[in-house]
Amino acid sequence: MSDVSVIGLGRMGSALAHALLASGRDVAVWNRSPEKVEAFVAAGAAGMLNPAAAVAAGRLVVICLSDYAASFAVLREVAAANELAGRLIVQLTSGTSAEAREMSAWAASHEAAYLDGAISAWPSQIGGPEAAIIVSGEQALYDEAAPVLTSLAGGLTFVGADVGHAKALFSAALAYFAGHWIGFAQGAAICQAEGLDTADFGQMMARLSPMFAADMQHMGRVIAEDGFSAAESTIASVERDIRRLIGVSSDLGVETAFPRLAADIFQRARDEGFGGYEHSGVIKVLRNAGRAVPRVIDDAVIA
Ligand code: NAP
Repeated sequence: MSDVSVIGLGRMGSALAHALLASGRDVAVWNRSPEKVEAFVAAGAAGMLNPAAAVAAGRLVVICLSDYAASFAVLREVAAANELAGRLIVQLTSGTSAEAREMSAWAASHEAAYLDGAISAWPSQIGGPEAAIIVSGEQALYDEAAPVLTSLAGGLTFVGADVGHAKALFSAALAYFAGHWIGFAQGAAICQAEGLDTADFGQMMARLSPMFAADMQHMGRVIAEDGFSAAESTIASVERDIRRLIGVSSDLGVETAFPRLAADIFQRARDEGFGGYEHSGVIKVLRNAGRAVPRVIDDAVIA
């Protein structure tokens, strides 16, 4: 019997399998394209010819494939071979909370235990302290899997019994990263147009990261308390700054789509009466999208 089976040896699955082997575990592996299995057999893994054999090799099965459709296709093959019942599936493929809940229910209907997780790391970080993996599902199942999963990421975190919550939090983090990546690239384009070194810009922003960390904690707290009135910077003033960025970008020949989008969202918040709120109050127009327009509660205007 193996300590853990890894289904999928793509970029991320390979990193997971390497980290598990490095931790001294007995690892069984399977990949659709068999040539990827050979290197792992040379490194001490048990190479399996089909996914049912890989799942049959032990109780704990880590899945890391392109998407849930691929995962379902593979797991149906395992179920058809009567090898799914009694296994503990840890699904680390990226997806949505709805997909996680659907797969959890499907696994239960085949008498398999199920945890769902999300990886926030590059493959090269897997097994190290920077790698983060969040996991949701039954606490007892997490407690069973954690001693093995801890070899994959220094930041292994259980986020609760709702099996969809790991993917929900990953979607929330992805929303942040989308702004982060485009925002940094917009800034780098401005630097290049001004003849500045983008590596220096990266260093400067990294030095500011403790401030961003504090702001994220502050924003999370303020939003949870719905208390936006003690503003050090207001939605109206942030909108003014971002709107200036449209002109700055345009003058330098840099694309203006991102600052326009950001300024328009802040403007909507001001139009709906939240101009005097602090910056995190912009959530008022985001979480109400498609629903009734919220009551206007102050009349702050841009000077
Ligand atoms: P990848 O290198 O493209 O590997 C995809 C894997 O899925 C391969 O093992 C591939 O098998 C397999 N696969 C695809 N369709 C299949 C099917 N129908 N049946 C069986 N196997 C199938 O992707 P990756 O980077 O490893 O990503 C895997 C998961 O990790 C994704 O959900 C991704 O979002 C997530 N993730 C990746 C990163 C990253 O930086 N790479 C970071 C965080 C999360 P073949 O080898 O036969 O093609």
